[in-house]
Amino acid sequence: MSDGSLESLCRDCGGPVSFHPGAATPARCGACFDAFMRTRDAAFLSSYAELGVTSRRVMAETCLRALVTAPPPHRKVLAMNIMEQYVLSASDLIGLYEAVKQRGGEPIMRRFLGYRIDRGSALAFFHEMETTPGPELLSRLGLPEVDAIAHRCPSLSKSDVKDLKKALVQMLGDLKRTGDMGESAALALAQMAGESRAGGALVKQSRWLDNIGLRPDQVAAIAIDERRRTVNVTAFSVDERRLQSMVSVIDAMTNAARNLIYGVLTMYQEEDRARASSPSAASRGRSA
Ligand SMILES: [Zn+2]
Repeated sequence: MSDGSLESLCRDCGGPVSFHPGAATPARCGACFDAFMRTRDAAFLSSYAELGVTSRRVMAETCLRALVTAPPPHRKVLAMNIMEQYVLSASDLIGLYEAVKQRGGEPIMRRFLGYRIDRGSALAFFHEMETTPGPELLSRLGLPEVDAIAHRCPSLSKSDVKDLKKALVQMLGDLKRTGDMGESAALALAQMAGESRAGGALVKQSRWLDNIGLRPDQVAAIAIDERRRTVNVTAFSVDERRLQSMVSVIDAMTNAARNLIYGVLTMYQEEDRARASSPSAASRGRSA
């Protein structure tokens, strides 16, 4: 090729895929990769809901239990770890929310796994949770209103309708609780999440940095913010009650994510059944 790029063949469609010398050889063309992920979106969500979605809660609860008997310096490490699990859990939930909201656009897997939280998107999410009425949230997520489930999903049995209704009501409650965390949590979250590596370095004292000292019960994570040419200090107090409430918000976020996935998977099933029972709709679906 005239621009010096190389060519290989797409593993799925056999079409040519060009790439630059020295770069990794692409396995597929862009269109086939999208299709590859899209056909696996439901299986991915289902598998993630069974294990991955709880990973932050498992870590946070383990840290909280260990904290009770740990010596003071270790308590600070455990406290900061709980904070980090909070950031990761929020990041997972916001990524999932954004991915589901645009379902039908990009593959869910790409949007979710590629999601990176920042100050703007964290604040926007918390604000959206705080101010959006439940029915509107459901509609943004492509989920039925709780009283319209039987109508939107005619193939569901009565008990399935009841289960989905319960899951969606719980999800709305948990999302509201997430929004209730307030702006200060969102800012700490965005600050920590915007750091250049996973979690800042823990420090015992920050006075050496900016003359703002930490109280003995506080711990801080510092990280460089190259964009603003500053060093971020996220201070955090090792207060068991605060940590306990943080863990319960992690619990709410975990449950919200799990119920959201349950709702989305139900909609996938409903769409598959509708396609299967109506061949003309199926062919329209394929050509779309
Ligand atoms: Zn291809």
